[in-house]
This record gives sequence, structure tokens and C-alpha cells, in this order.
Amino acid sequence: MKFSFNSLRVAFLGIAILSVSLAANSQSTNDYRSRHRNLLAKQNRVKDKIKVEESQNYARGLYGDKEADRSDIYSEGWNSDRVNPYQNSTIPNSKVIDVSRYHMPVKQKVVTSHFGYRKQFGRMHYGVDLKASVGDTVYAAFSGKVRLTKFERNGYGFYVIVRHDNGMETVYGHLSKFLVKPNQHVKAGSPIALSGNTGRSTGPHLHFETRYMGVAINPEKIFDFGNGRTHRNQYTFNKNSNDNAPSSRQSASRRK
Ligand SMILES: [Zn+2]
Repeated sequence: MKFSFNSLRVAFLGIAILSVSLAANSQSTNDYRSRHRNLLAKQNRVKDKIKVEESQNYARGLYGDKEADRSDIYSEGWNSDRVNPYQNSTIPNSKVIDVSRYHMPVKQKVVTSHFGYRKQFGRMHYGVDLKASVGDTVYAAFSGKVRLTKFERNGYGFYVIVRHDNGMETVYGHLSKFLVKPNQHVKAGSPIALSGNTGRSTGPHLHFETRYMGVAINPEKIFDFGNGRTHRNQYTFNKNSNDNAPSSRQSASRRK
């Protein structure tokens, strides 16, 4: 009887300590959250926001609402199985793209090959290669909808293209396994595939492209891969910028 009373007391004490520590923990989490919010608020560039809004209003004035607020992003070329379904589209000269809600495509933070012309192969590299082992999870960079999952033996291998709410498309190549199907909705950070070494690839890695209206943008102009974040909350696409390269498919159709 005495023993069980003691163990009851011990148990009660245990619960009391646990609830106090839980309360303290949630208190410190709240503190942390509010401090973090304050830091974020300080970082917000109010002037930049105003500038963007001004230029968007200006663009609306020039092109009308349709150009500034595209509601048809999931219809234009949606059923195309091409990497670039925008061949016959008019590409705007400039477009502010919201890249504030993102997720890095792989956990590792190493770029093994950059965007640009590769002299030794005589062709363009339309994305970056990110360090990844076979079987590493590949995440959707932004929220959106999977447009296609395909296999190309002499190129991307198994690859996924996701079209995003912000108007961009991202391409993920040399995969070993798909975790999504076309028309599936994804969030930034949803697992979409496992990385691999399929297609024209000399070792396991993720080939990652960022595109707007079929124009490949240097992903390193949007993402700071080494630090696992985007450079800014917005990326301004400019049609004739050196950040870009029209896709090979686009150039081929232009030559015809
Ligand atoms: Zn590559």
C-alpha cells in the first residue's frame, strides 16, 4: 500500500514536470516564432514591393489585364508532350515572377554543372546539374500541376515537367522513379520523383531547368543553391536577357 502510494506520487510528479516543460517549450516556440516574424518583417523591402506593384499596374495599362494576370496558364499547350509547348505563343518582353514560396529540388546544395553553352559538347546546357545520389527524393520547386512524365533515352532519361502557379515550368531529369502522374497537383516541396542516372548522363545527379513560356532561364539567377534559397522574392524575366536561352526545340522550329 505504501509502495503504491509512493509510485503514485512519483507518477504525479512526473506528469507535473512534463506539463511544465511542455508549457515552457511551447512558450519558447511562440517566442521564437514572433521573433522570426519580426526579423522577416524587417527584411521586407517595402520600396521594392511598391515598385513591383507600380510596374504591374503600368503593364496592365499597356497590355490589359490578360497579360498581367494570366488565368489560362494551365490550358496553353497543356496536352502537349513537348518540353516546350509554347512555340506558337507570344512571349512577353518582361514578366515579374513570384518565387517567394519555393522548395529546393534536392537536399544537397552542390551545383556540379552550370547553365550555358558547353564548348566541349558543342551544345547548350539548359539547366543546372545538382549533386544527388540514386534514390534521393526530388521535390517540386513551386506549387502547381504536373504536365508530363516521360522517358527520353538519349537525353533527359526519365523526366518530369511541372507547370507552376507563378507561370513558370520546371524540368527534372535523369530520374530513377516517378512519384507523380500528369495532371496531379503538387505543392512546393511535394516529393515528385527519385533521382537517378537515366538518359544521357555520366553519373547520378539531378538535371534541373527553370523555364518561362518555353525560354530556359539560368536557375542560378533565381536560386542560390549553395544557401538553399531564392535570391529574392521575385524574379523579373526579361525576354532578351543573358540569363536566358531559347530552347533547342524553339530554335529548330525557327530555322524551319
Ligand atoms: Zn544537366
